[in-house]
Amino acid sequence: MPAITPSSPVTALYGVSDLRAKLLDKLGIITVDDLVRHYPRGYENRGQTKKVCELFPGETASCILEISSPLKSTRIISKKGKAKTVQKVTAHDETGSVIITFFNQDFLKTTLVTGRKFRFYGSISGSFLSPQMLSPSYEPYYEGAILDNLVPIYPLTAGITCKMLSKLVKQALDIYLGIESLPEKIIKRYELLNLYDSLCAIHFPKDEKTLLAARKRLSFEELLDFQLKLRSLRSRSRNDKAIKFFLPNMEEFYNSLEYTLTNAQKKAVDEIIYDMTNSSHIDESSGFTEPMRRLIQGDVGSGKTVIAAAAVYICAKNNCQASLMVPTEILAEQHYASLLPLMEKHRIVTALLTGSTKASEKKRILEALSNGDIDFIIGTHALIEDNVIFKRPGLAVTDEQHRFGVKQREKLSGKNAVSADGKVTVPHMLVMSATPIPRTLALILYGDLDISIIDELPPGRQKVDTFAVGESMRERIYKFIRKLVSEGRQCYIVCPLAENMDEDLSEESYQNKLKSAAEYCEKLKSEVFPELNIDFIHGKMKPAEKDRIMKTFAAGKTDILVSTTVIEVGVNVPNAALMVIENAERFGLSQLHQLRGRVGRGTHKSYCILMSPLIKGKIADGTSTAEKRFKIMCDNDSGFKIAEFDLEMRGPGDFFGRRQHGELSFKIADLAADIQLVEETKKLADLIVKAKKERI
Ligand code: ADP
Ligand code: MG
Repeated sequence: MPAITPSSPVTALYGVSDLRAKLLDKLGIITVDDLVRHYPRGYENRGQTKKVCELFPGETASCILEISSPLKSTRIISKKGKAKTVQKVTAHDETGSVIITFFNQDFLKTTLVTGRKFRFYGSISGSFLSPQMLSPSYEPYYEGAILDNLVPIYPLTAGITCKMLSKLVKQALDIYLGIESLPEKIIKRYELLNLYDSLCAIHFPKDEKTLLAARKRLSFEELLDFQLKLRSLRSRSRNDKAIKFFLPNMEEFYNSLEYTLTNAQKKAVDEIIYDMTNSSHIDESSGFTEPMRRLIQGDVGSGKTVIAAAAVYICAKNNCQASLMVPTEILAEQHYASLLPLMEKHRIVTALLTGSTKASEKKRILEALSNGDIDFIIGTHALIEDNVIFKRPGLAVTDEQHRFGVKQREKLSGKNAVSADGKVTVPHMLVMSATPIPRTLALILYGDLDISIIDELPPGRQKVDTFAVGESMRERIYKFIRKLVSEGRQCYIVCPLAENMDEDLSEESYQNKLKSAAEYCEKLKSEVFPELNIDFIHGKMKPAEKDRIMKTFAAGKTDILVSTTVIEVGVNVPNAALMVIENAERFGLSQLHQLRGRVGRGTHKSYCILMSPLIKGKIADGTSTAEKRFKIMCDNDSGFKIAEFDLEMRGPGDFFGRRQHGELSFKIADLAADIQLVEETKKLADLIVKAKKERI
C-alpha cells in the first residue's frame, strides 16, 4: 500500500467508507490535510470537575460520579407515535446524587454498572436540590486513567460526530511526524511551534499554554498564506509603469485653499508626492515609476477631499488626466460643486459625468476626454464604462470606496494609455475610505496598498453629543428641534424606510411600524411643525429632484430634511447641527457613525439623537445588542474606535457584508484578536515578494 500523505484522499484512512467520505465532503474535508485542518470550534473543559452540591441547573459541567443503582429502561411512545426507550440511572459523589437520562441506548446496561465510576459531562437540568443530566458524554474513571481534559468540539454535519472526527484525526496525525509546511527560518525567527506539535495541540490540547502556541502558529500560517495569495491575485504585471511626475509648485496649491492643512493632511499629501514623483523603483532616467497604490483612511469630516485635490493638481500640472469616482450622484455633484472653484483657480478643466448626464452632453465630454481637453473628470460608475477613454490618464481616485468592489476599483485604474513608442502606462491609484477600518482589516483587505491614516480633525470641530432615547422622549425631542431651528440651525431626520408598503396608517399601527420617511415627513408637516420648512428625500427619486432638494437644504432654505440613508455618504452641510435617527436599532454601528458624521461639520455645537422603540425607559440602559450599539455610539466619537467595536461585535465576515468579502473567512485566525499576527505576516509577505522579485 502506498504511504499516506497529507494530500491523500480521506478514504485512505482506516474507517472512511465512500459513504462517510461523502459526508466529510460536506464539511469541506476531501484530503487528509483538510481533515487535520478542520480545527475544533471550541473545547469542552471536562478536566475542571465539580461536586454535585456545586451544580447549577442551566450550566454545563463535568463531574466524577459513581453509579448508585442498576440502569432502568422504560419503553415509551412519543407524541409522533415513535417508540423509544428511556434509560435512567442514578449516580453520586460524597455531596449528593444526580439522575441521568439517556435515550435508546440499551447497551448502557453493561457499561453503567453499579459501583463503577465515570466522568460525566453535559448540561445540568432539574433543580438545585435534585440535579439531572440529559444524555451527557461519559468516560470510565479509575485510578491512573488518562483522560483528555480539553475535549475538541468540531463543526459537524449530519452523520458525523465529534468522536468520529477525533478518532480520524488521531489516526491522521501520525502522518505529520517530521512534516513541516513553513520554512525553518521563519519558524525560528517568529518562535513558532512546529507543524506536528501544533496540530496535536490544537486537536488534543494538554494545557492552555500549548493550545495558545498552537493557535498562534496555525493562525500565522493561515494569515501568511492569505497575504501571499492576495499579492499574487492583485499585483498586476510587474512591468506596470506609471508616469513619473515632476513636483509642481505646491505652495501655489496650498495658498489657493481657504484654510491651512492639518498635520495629518500634510503628511498624507507628502506621501502621495513621494509615490508619484519618486522614481527609485524603476530606471531613474526612463520617466516612469511604479504606480502609486495608496489608501487614505480618515474619519468622516477629516478632510480627505482636499488630499485628492492635491493629487489631481499634481497630475494636471504634469499635463495628465485625473478621475474621481464616487458611489452616488449626490456625492459626485457635491464634489463637483466644491472642487470646481478650486480647480478653476489653477486652470484645470473639470467635468462631471453621471448616469443622468444628458446624451448630448455626455458625447461632448467623452470626446473632450479622449482628445485630452478635459484634465479632471468627476463621476459615478459611468466612469468605468468602456466608451470612457482617456488620452493621458495619470491618476484614478475612488472615494468612499468600500462601496465599490475591488474589480471596479481596478477597472478605473486599469484605464491605461499607450504612448507613441508602444509603452503602456497605468494611472497612479488613490483610494479614499470613508469608513474607518480597523487596522487589522485594512492590512488584510488592502494588503497590496500603502496606507495613509488621517487621525486628526480640522481645527474648531466639536464633539457631537449623542443620546439614545425611547418613545417617551419624543415630545422633548420635538421641542429641541424647534429650539435649534429658531437659532438658525438645520436638522436631519433619518428613517429606515422610504415609504410604507401598506396603507394602514392608524395611529396605533404607526407607533408600531418602522418610520418611513415619506409618511413621517407628512406627519411632521401637518401636525408637529406646521410652521417649519420640511422636505423629504430618498434614493429612488429622480436625480434632478434629489439635486434640487439637496441644494435647497444646503442653501439653508429647508429647516428639516427627512431622509432615508441616501444622505449617509459624504454629504456636507455645515449648518446642520442635529441628526435624529429613527428606528436606530435597524442600523449597524458603522452606518450610525456615518450618519452622525453629517453633523458637526461646521463650528456649531451639534447633536445626534438615536430613537428606538426598543428603549423602554427614557434612555438606553438595556442589554440588547442594539442598546449596546447605542451605548458605544454615545460613549465614542472616533470612527476607528467604533469600527473596532463593530468588528468585535459582528465578526469580520459581516463587517463588510459577506458577499463582497467572502474571501475573509478564516479557519483559525481571529482578525479581531490577532492584530499583531496580521501585521507581522503582512510585513513578512512583503519581504517574501520582494526577495522573489530580486531573484528574477
Ligand atoms: P471627508 O474626509 O469626510 O471627505 P471632507 O473632505 O468633506 O471630509 O471635509 C469636510 C469639511 O472640512 C469640508 O467642508 C472641508 O472644506 C473642511 N476642511 C477640510 N480640511 C480642513 C482644514 N485643514 N481646516 C479647516 N477645514 C477643513
Ligand atoms: Mg468625503
